[in-house]
Amino acid sequence: MSTDVQCPAGCGLMDYKTNRNMKTRVFEPIGYGLMIGGLPFIVDHFDAVPTPISYVIGFGMLMLGAYRTALVTTDLSCNTCTGIILESKSIDQRLKGSGFNNWNSKADFIRELLSSSMENSQYDCPDCSEKMRHIKVPIEDGSYRPNHLVPDIVETIQNLETVSRTVDLDGCKKCDLLWFKKAKKEALLSSESTLIRKT
Ligand SMILES: [Zn+2]
Ligand SMILES: [Zn+2]
Repeated sequence: MSTDVQCPAGCGLMDYKTNRNMKTRVFEPIGYGLMIGGLPFIVDHFDAVPTPISYVIGFGMLMLGAYRTALVTTDLSCNTCTGIILESKSIDQRLKGSGFNNWNSKADFIRELLSSSMENSQYDCPDCSEKMRHIKVPIEDGSYRPNHLVPDIVETIQNLETVSRTVDLDGCKKCDLLWFKKAKKEALLSSESTLIRKT
């Protein structure tokens, strides 16, 4: 992809922004070393009982380790509309979890949706300038909590509303990129959410 990428929404040039995803661990020897090394400072072992100072050291090492092992991705974002573009590599990194049935990953499923979508997006691909395709990805997100104060039937309806939602996005199959109008949508899709079967 060329270095100068225009925001599909017409805001102008997009910037590469680096994000650290603290929920996704990647292999980083020093980071893991720090996390494992930090443990003896905060748990009882042999005759040693952790002191306030060792807690500080231990937690410090754990946090530094967690930081170092967090997944780092660089994505194109728009400062004006908060839109975000995921390119091939980011699609695979961000959307790897929770495939279902024959899908190894969310990324595979989304690519499949994209290639079978007949719905033209209102946006042109920033790379090849052809019309992107619009897709709706049904997801189930983990935010639902049972509420014992409401009757079961109401809860069932609320449950349906909160658990199932769709994330709308556009993408170009040929260039293997996805365009999210809001970065928030991308976060929703790449977080702990699970894809749900299309009905
Ligand atoms: Zn924009
Ligand atoms: Zn394209």
